[in-house]
Amino acid sequence: MTQILHETYLDYSDILIKPKMGINLNSRKDVTLQRVFKFKHGQTRTGLGVFNANMATVGNFGVAKKLLAKGMFATLHKHYSVDEIGQFIADCKKENISIDNLFITIGLRNIDSEIEKLKNLESKHDWKSPRNICIDAPNFYIQKALDVLARVRCEFPDAVIMAGNIASGDICLKLLDYADIIKCGIGSGSACLTRKQTGCGVPMVSLILESADIAHSVGGHICADGGIVDIGDICKAFCLNSDFVMAGGIFAGTDEAEGEIVEKTYETSEIIDGKHAMEIKSFKVYYGMSSEYANNKFAGGMGNYKTSEGRELLIPYTGAIDKVLQDITGGIASCCTYIGAASVKHMAKCATIIQVHNQLNKVFEKYSV
Ligand code: 5GP
Repeated sequence: MTQILHETYLDYSDILIKPKMGINLNSRKDVTLQRVFKFKHGQTRTGLGVFNANMATVGNFGVAKKLLAKGMFATLHKHYSVDEIGQFIADCKKENISIDNLFITIGLRNIDSEIEKLKNLESKHDWKSPRNICIDAPNFYIQKALDVLARVRCEFPDAVIMAGNIASGDICLKLLDYADIIKCGIGSGSACLTRKQTGCGVPMVSLILESADIAHSVGGHICADGGIVDIGDICKAFCLNSDFVMAGGIFAGTDEAEGEIVEKTYETSEIIDGKHAMEIKSFKVYYGMSSEYANNKFAGGMGNYKTSEGRELLIPYTGAIDKVLQDITGGIASCCTYIGAASVKHMAKCATIIQVHNQLNKVFEKYSV
């Protein structure tokens, strides 16, 4: 019989972090943002656990370089060639930007050529230990995904491997036999249509709690992927015990994201000489990796057996990514001072989470400039 679970599953917008006294922190500058990650399969990395999504628009060289330079983690999308990635690595090294936290993404399709790509990167370019691999599948609940993961671990025993996506705790143990980080989140992404098209998905807060609990019990780590609307959501994910957070949409309107600026002209309510005044607004295109656009661009069309589970969006242009990155580090540091956490690692220990009906005051939202 079909079962209905009556427990309410919560999302970021359903909760807040309750401020409280903790250790005395006089300034946000006193907060330690870097964390040492000791991974299940033996490797260690250090950084602020924020990733850009491995999508064509934001998993690009421009965004990745900025995150790495800021001491965060970064992914590159799977459509770059070996030589393009090799050149990127050389450029980073020339600029003294560490690539220790750079993850190279591979997909499930045609795994032989994906492995060959990684081996070529190793032999022809400067991709030596430490190495990190992201195995990307919108749905890891298939045997092929598990087989690919086992094979990649066998080929690259000393790499940090991040695998996903999943949306339940039960599968974490299986994946952690080979992976170090489990990417959690199905249907939460801003460019995602999975919940509309398939009815499947799990709200992020409950998913993080469940997955972190199981993964941590065996020395694994998790990455909360998708659904970051505000910087506060990153803070919430850390407070809920997520080790990493991955975001796409918040980087999509920046100069560093892939694609040109698109300008659109709108009629305003202001009347000048009897006519509505016009204004120009700037955007950048952000598309889901399962969208029709992405399928046409990278997979030669949609294929007559599937539906598009992603969409194309025009995201308001926001300028240089530095402002977003400073908001991230500033927001996390400030959150730590509200809860008395000396470091990002301590956020989950210090946080009390409350369930709320009204998270934000939006009364003047439409007047924001
Ligand atoms: P965002 O930060 O924009 O809310 O979410 C980014 C995440 O959305 C990605 O890391 C990825 O997990 C997910 N995503 C990207 N493209 C698609 C898509 O086309 N369909 C679905 N279902 N998820 C997507």
